[in-house]
Amino acid sequence: MRTEAQAVVIGGGVIGCSILYHLTKLGWSDVVLLERDELTSGSTWHAAANIHGLHDSTNISRIQHYTMTLYNALEEETGQSCGVFQPGSLYLAQTEEREHQLKLQAAKAKLYGMNFYEISIDEAKKLNPLVNYDGIRCVMYEPDGGNVDPSGVTNAYAVGARQRGAEIHRFTPVTATEQQDDGSWLVKTPKGDIRTKWVVNAAGLWGREVAALAGVELPLQPTEHQYFVTETMTDVAEHGSRLPSVSDRDGEYYLRQEGQGLLVGAYEKDMKIWAEEGTPLDFAHDLFPDDLERIEENMMNAIERLPAVGEAGIKRVINGPMIWSPDSNVLMGPVPELEGYFCCNGIIPGFSQSGGMGLMAAQWIIEGETQYDMFAWDMARFDTWATKAFTKARVQDQYAHRFAIHFPNEERSAGRPARTRPIYELQSEMGAVFGLNAGWEHPLWFADQPGTKDTNGFTRQNWWAPVGEECKMLRDRAGIIDISNFAKYRCKGPGAADWLNAVFANNMPKTVGRSCLTPLISKRGGIAGDFTVTRTAEDEFWVIGSGMAERYHKRFFKEVPLPEGTSFVSMTEAMCGFNVAGPKSREMLQQLTNTSLATEDFPFMRSAMIEVAGIEVLALRVSFTGDLGWELHCKSEDQLRLYSALLQAGQPFTAGPVGSRALMSLRVEKGYGSWSREYSPEYWPQEVGLDRLCKLDKDFLNKSAAVSALENAAREQLVLLHLDEADVSASNADATGGEPIFKNGEGIGRVTSGAYGYSVGMSLALGYVKNAGPGDVVDVMVLGRPHKATILSEPPFDADGAVLRG
Ligand SMILES: Cc1cc2nc3c(=O)[nH]c(=O)nc-3n(C[C@H](O)[C@H](O)[C@H](O)COP(=O)(O)OP(=O)(O)OC[C@H]3O[C@@H](n4cnc5c(N)ncnc54)[C@H](O)[C@@H]3O)c2cc1C
Repeated sequence: MRTEAQAVVIGGGVIGCSILYHLTKLGWSDVVLLERDELTSGSTWHAAANIHGLHDSTNISRIQHYTMTLYNALEEETGQSCGVFQPGSLYLAQTEEREHQLKLQAAKAKLYGMNFYEISIDEAKKLNPLVNYDGIRCVMYEPDGGNVDPSGVTNAYAVGARQRGAEIHRFTPVTATEQQDDGSWLVKTPKGDIRTKWVVNAAGLWGREVAALAGVELPLQPTEHQYFVTETMTDVAEHGSRLPSVSDRDGEYYLRQEGQGLLVGAYEKDMKIWAEEGTPLDFAHDLFPDDLERIEENMMNAIERLPAVGEAGIKRVINGPMIWSPDSNVLMGPVPELEGYFCCNGIIPGFSQSGGMGLMAAQWIIEGETQYDMFAWDMARFDTWATKAFTKARVQDQYAHRFAIHFPNEERSAGRPARTRPIYELQSEMGAVFGLNAGWEHPLWFADQPGTKDTNGFTRQNWWAPVGEECKMLRDRAGIIDISNFAKYRCKGPGAADWLNAVFANNMPKTVGRSCLTPLISKRGGIAGDFTVTRTAEDEFWVIGSGMAERYHKRFFKEVPLPEGTSFVSMTEAMCGFNVAGPKSREMLQQLTNTSLATEDFPFMRSAMIEVAGIEVLALRVSFTGDLGWELHCKSEDQLRLYSALLQAGQPFTAGPVGSRALMSLRVEKGYGSWSREYSPEYWPQEVGLDRLCKLDKDFLNKSAAVSALENAAREQLVLLHLDEADVSASNADATGGEPIFKNGEGIGRVTSGAYGYSVGMSLALGYVKNAGPGDVVDVMVLGRPHKATILSEPPFDADGAVLRG
């Protein structure tokens, strides 16, 4: 066994083997995989191993598409059979919502060149005559859908990796991972130790236990999961060709051919958590006793749709464990608090995603960044607030709703509240409907009745009109927006200015009381973040960024060493904030402070520590609404007093609370981008309109990547679109993000944010397009159907910034 390696992968399931394979494919041959038992001995060996390409998330679709096309190539390359069957998959819609979901996916498939399209019921009958198509509204066909052999695929990755120089050691459990003083790791096993720069935790069902060896706690929880295989069925045997699989998600089961019978699996409501206190170390190639009663309801749905299933005997039942994260997406990426420790755990559709996941992991480790924005999969989206109790509740909910449609703007209530601020109770009494934001309860909108909940759907929902009232109140008078969910940091010390200048692309403010906007540049020269930096003293700055990206940004901040005597500390928990904005905001706030808020004394982009209602606040003359306004940041213990004072001061102006859904609409009216939607490492500064904030006459983090990116012409451009009112009214739906954009039938881009602009009376969308510009008329695929839209030359609200600066 090697004693040194570039990377050591722990776990020989399908994911560990794929990561090993992709590491070698990207050029690292000095890599080792350690497996405590045989390869595949966790969840991998007993999987149904269905493969699908399309997903609601564009980047997950890309990754699944890559995986589906990889298996045949892998087989050819290694000579190891992957047992690939691709008879196609039929996706059935029983409801209008499912039809919308599938049509949207079909539109995305067309944009990204993937094979997924609508077929008629007659065509579907020819492909799979066992299905009863009564009540089916539409059928989509994915010709590449099917299934693979789990052990074949895992071994093919292993063979491919070995052929490029990797070592694989079976029956070699990792018993310790110890970080050395030089940052490298000592991976300990009974057969000897290996020193490496990178530990990769791909321990599947034991992901928690292996992470704990490095002092890391992962929010993961295993569950049981079942499928059964029928005896040989004459209808199947005599069909002549392999039947396409059936995705009847409204029926909450999956189904495909296995041998001459069928395989049916289910995500039941009455789900079962397993190994809450830890996965037993002696568990391997084991299953649980059958418990078909638990999935009876799902089985009945399958029998109703394919009556032949009810007549067949059951040959085999598989009840095995799988391990979930709180949102059922993988927990992936380097642990931000450690050097050289990579996680890839909690993967549910391992066979649909193994290839893409292995490729992304290898890119991240070797090149420092993935080609796609992986934020939705980044382990940094969770932090210590995702406790065991939260994780368990979310996993129960995710499992039981695995096949439910997850609508845009949907907020699930399981496991909440996880974190609250002092004004949570008051906001609840005021009718706040909350969303989850980096663990915090955060007001989305304010209903007339406390306890009101969101309705969900692709069309306009119960919040649409009240959010409009909030927007109009703010634009006509003033509004108070809770912005405590923003990330806040204080940088203090003699080296503060130098350090911030070395991290961020823009020049930091030279004068006390000034603020600047700045991008943070990613490894490939894209946008890793957008921040407001304010100089509050010669040696002190406040940095405000996206709350949900706080742990993600840690990885960037730690790349530049802090000068001696200078600190950079998160103040997100300790501080809360409000944005008071609107034409009456100055008058309203002036009642509460002796500091003059007149433009000549407190102009746009200036800041000061001031007293508001006797409370010390950091006041910034900025507003994400695009309106006249101030951000006020106070200590958490002062939040309730400040909020009460602001609400009272608002009364004479009939100004009141405004939620984040209204903020979304207001910022879109102004054309402002937002992190993880418009701003992502996938986009270069010139594509987002942030190139002017990259100062190339100084050094900053990833500057050379920015310089290379900026040398290129923009591949796409961020634009603001106005959707045709007649089309939008007919659908009763606005764009929400992710909708493809076509011009003369050709895919030219996608929506990143959509909202109705209540104060301008326009349905709007921000999105990236190529080969199109102001005045062009395009089709935006809201609900998967074309909606005419015009690219605007300027934002409909305050295009010249007169209101903002006024
Ligand atoms: C019943 C069932 C049906 C499924 N059907 C499908 C499907 O149709 N399609 C699909 O895509 N997915 C399906 N899955 C999910 C799929 O099985 C998983 O996504 C996938 O197997 C996860 O692989 P993994 O490599 O992450 O983990 P695992 O397979 O759990 O592998 C982890 C490996 O790490 C090893 N290990 C653990 N600790 C150590 C240590 N200390 N030292 C060394 N090695 C260690 C283990 O022995 C194990 O081999 C199904 C799962 C179940 C339970």
